[in-house]
Amino acid sequence: METRPFSAGTQLSLTNDGRLELFFLGVGSAFAKRHYQTNLLIVKGQDHVLVDCGTKCPQALYDVGLPVTAIQNFFITHSHSDHIGGLEEVALLGRYMAKKKPVMIIAEAYQHILWDMSLRGGCAHNEEQAGDILKFSDFFEVRRPRHMADIPRLTYDTEVGSIGLKMMRTKHIPDSSGTWESSFWSCGVIIDDRILFTSDTRYDPELVLSYCKQFPIEVIFHDCQFFTGGVHASLEELAGLPDDIRARMYLVHYGDNWEQFEPRVAELGFAGLTQQMTHYMF
Ligand SMILES: [Zn+2]
Ligand SMILES: [Zn+2]
Repeated sequence: METRPFSAGTQLSLTNDGRLELFFLGVGSAFAKRHYQTNLLIVKGQDHVLVDCGTKCPQALYDVGLPVTAIQNFFITHSHSDHIGGLEEVALLGRYMAKKKPVMIIAEAYQHILWDMSLRGGCAHNEEQAGDILKFSDFFEVRRPRHMADIPRLTYDTEVGSIGLKMMRTKHIPDSSGTWESSFWSCGVIIDDRILFTSDTRYDPELVLSYCKQFPIEVIFHDCQFFTGGVHASLEELAGLPDDIRARMYLVHYGDNWEQFEPRVAELGFAGLTQQMTHYMF
């Protein structure tokens, strides 16, 4: 893996030489003010997909020279606003300005949650014809991932051109739920069977250990907060993972006070904090 910072003043390219490239538009927690929200752009050859589009995502894309309408493929991990808050802008600019529908990779169960509980209020009533209002599929080209029946935890897979994605259910909210089955909808992602990105999850060692056993995971980007309790994995909880896992784990979705925890991150043997606006090349 190599890293290279984004060249300020240039436009981020949505294509590359064919290597797998990860670019975090932000690395912050839901309420971070210093480094945007944890939304991940994946680029490989002629293909790209944006994993999550939070409230600050359109601004983050603007900072790298891109309108939200440049993004052709989306996958959404769950419905907190740091992951979906930019989607109304995507939907409305797509329909009324760019006049195109981006692809949304989405399981049917989650489509109902995303549309009925969040997006519908700002999107559905912008047009009405003979009593019909707009639907999710008027804004997005819906693509269903396949269910992988051979994996015990609910997992889907799909391809975006040359990019392979597997999405598995995680254990994020509420903090009282003991299992992924009893948690509200949230997912992590495996990219090309090489990279595990948990997105938001509580401490769930079985998630990390089982997928690292099933797939040749080289690098893990894991949700992390600097205090224990609530709906995210904490630094001290993650310290309980095996040495070889921590050594390839970058922490992400962290708070604005990260400087005071950098020594502890190093002391515990993690690969480090994920860097914002940095090209991670594999
Ligand atoms: Zn979040
Ligand atoms: Zn969340």
